[in-house]
Amino acid sequence: MATQPEYRGRFAPSPTGPLHVGSLLTAVASYLDARSASGTWLLRIEDIDPPREVPGAADSILRSLEAHGLYWDETELYQSTRLEAYAEALDELTECGDVFRCCCTRATLGPGGSCLKRCSPTLEDVTALRVCLLGNAGFDDRILGPQQPKHGANDLVLRRKDNLYAYALAVVVDDAWQSITDVVRGEDLLFQTFAQLELLAQLKAEQPSYAHVPVVCDASGIKLSKQAGATAIDDKAALKNLRKVLELLCQDSAQLHAGSTRELLELATSLWNPQALQARRALVYP
Ligand SMILES: [Zn+2]
Repeated sequence: MATQPEYRGRFAPSPTGPLHVGSLLTAVASYLDARSASGTWLLRIEDIDPPREVPGAADSILRSLEAHGLYWDETELYQSTRLEAYAEALDELTECGDVFRCCCTRATLGPGGSCLKRCSPTLEDVTALRVCLLGNAGFDDRILGPQQPKHGANDLVLRRKDNLYAYALAVVVDDAWQSITDVVRGEDLLFQTFAQLELLAQLKAEQPSYAHVPVVCDASGIKLSKQAGATAIDDKAALKNLRKVLELLCQDSAQLHAGSTRELLELATSLWNPQALQARRALVYP
């Protein structure tokens, strides 16, 4: 009988700004999920988009996680050190998959941002590299239940016109390389999962299990994000921040009486119940 692989999860922020309540919530959810399964919890800094990065943000994220008692296992991985692996994966997909050059602009792309080989770039054109997808990869989300893609055949950018690797390529290459078994992340990435599953299959990599947690919105329903200027969390108020996040995650209120971040995280690990999020679409803060 095959044995279950050991749980390996990860938190994978982009260094586009300091942690805010929304990103802390995702970190806490993936941490608790891993710890409650006696698993390994990794930290991956997704720093492959320099134009969007903020100097010092990666260090600030590391310090904030430590201040909140969210210690990760193994050495943190910086995606900027993995460019060779992304190039190799791109070669592999080109050999076995349907990768093509695309010179479309935003204005000429079809519905859903797909090119579907509508353009005919010349050798001189600056092009992105895209891969054709069937749009038929469904999955069973651990929180949201069965999910099916809504748009049939489409395509996905693997390398952008500015020669930077796309998020979707880097994330599947690293999930496979780090033997990630369980992905817990924000629901804003749910739509990406269908394409990522097809890429994983083309790369003949194992598919992790997915759990998408609701995103945190402000009172007007806008997702908290670094781009929208969400306030950075105050590391000096770590215990208060963790209590707030556990309340947003609809977790048992018994744990809120813990007196230290360590005690709170231990209690929250023992009481972790992701199913409490099933009926929730968005979490409103404050
Ligand atoms: Zn095109």
